[in-house]
Amino acid sequence: MQQNLSYFTTFHISTRLGTRDAYTGMMPGHPTFAFRGSAGFNVGNAGFEELIAVNQVGKRFFNEVRLPRRPGPSAYPGDGGAPGRGLDHTPLDWRNCRKEWVREMYNYDHGLDAALAMNEGSQAPDYYSGPLWAIFDQDAVERNGWELRYPYVSDNGYFFRADTIEDLAAQMYAVHEFQRVPLSYLSETVSTWNGYVEAGADPEFEREADAPMNLITAPPFYALSIMVIWHDSYGGLRVNGRQQVVDMQGQVIPGLYAGGEAVGGFNKHGLGKGHVHGYIAGTQAVEEPSS
Ligand SMILES: Cc1cc2nc3c(=O)[nH]c(=O)nc-3n(C[C@H](O)[C@H](O)[C@H](O)COP(=O)(O)OP(=O)(O)OC[C@H]3O[C@@H](n4cnc5c(N)ncnc54)[C@H](O)[C@@H]3O)c2cc1C
Repeated sequence: MQQNLSYFTTFHISTRLGTRDAYTGMMPGHPTFAFRGSAGFNVGNAGFEELIAVNQVGKRFFNEVRLPRRPGPSAYPGDGGAPGRGLDHTPLDWRNCRKEWVREMYNYDHGLDAALAMNEGSQAPDYYSGPLWAIFDQDAVERNGWELRYPYVSDNGYFFRADTIEDLAAQMYAVHEFQRVPLSYLSETVSTWNGYVEAGADPEFEREADAPMNLITAPPFYALSIMVIWHDSYGGLRVNGRQQVVDMQGQVIPGLYAGGEAVGGFNKHGLGKGHVHGYIAGTQAVEEPSS
């Protein structure tokens, strides 16, 4: 479904926290603002050094600094955050797939996989990995001069502040629309993390190799939603040049058309793809004899 080597926004973790639409930073006055309730607070890639990321039960799941898109020179011109940034790259040359590149791709993909993984809060038959949260304290706010105020954050259910970690977890569970289970492990996770900081090592996710680690001890404590953005996909139904869906043997399935994000096999995404496919499918469909 994803094609990271081609396009970096296909599937990624946004650095814009605390809003339900983390893709762009729309301000009050924009037609979508009422829906999102805040513009979101963009901590940038480096901001992920200042927080721990937890899942719906309050457990860490990956090295935080490797979760968001990465800065730096790009794999392809124009896509500044692609995994593999900074590595020499010749477009369309298979020899790019050397071990450094593969390692970079592995880390990138697996942060997303870990973010979406089933966890202790998932119950059969409705498995659900739940929301993700950035947790940090007042010291992080002061270190970075973060202005956690409207319109960047608001009481929209995606931003929380409390004097204890227990209160923070309780608020998140009570208010956030997709937080379906209590964050039972959050207090334990924060104290375990603080132990790692004191010891200077993160045995679970090896944070120390990448970034400074900071205690989460100074109230108030904060929780901002972290969003995984699925921007477009490259997987889907197989079609012919008339947008007719074909089966596994390449035979047309009569009367079935597909286009846009629903079809696979295209190294492009977007509105142009959907419109052109729709035009072709519609033109073809009206010419088909009705039964
Ligand atoms: C944040 C974001 C920004 C983007 N920016 C751009 C951009 O700047 N330029 C660009 O070209 N592209 C952009 N894209 C990509 C572009 O929006 C998509 O490629 C395009 O909208 C796909 O159109 P589509 O009709 O194939 O699918 P969709 O727009 O996803 O339409 C599918 C529709 O099917 C409906 N549906 C799903 N299941 C059912 C069901 N069972 N029964 C009935 N209806 C159902 C859905 O509700 C939806 O309305 C962006 C995408 C995102 C997410």
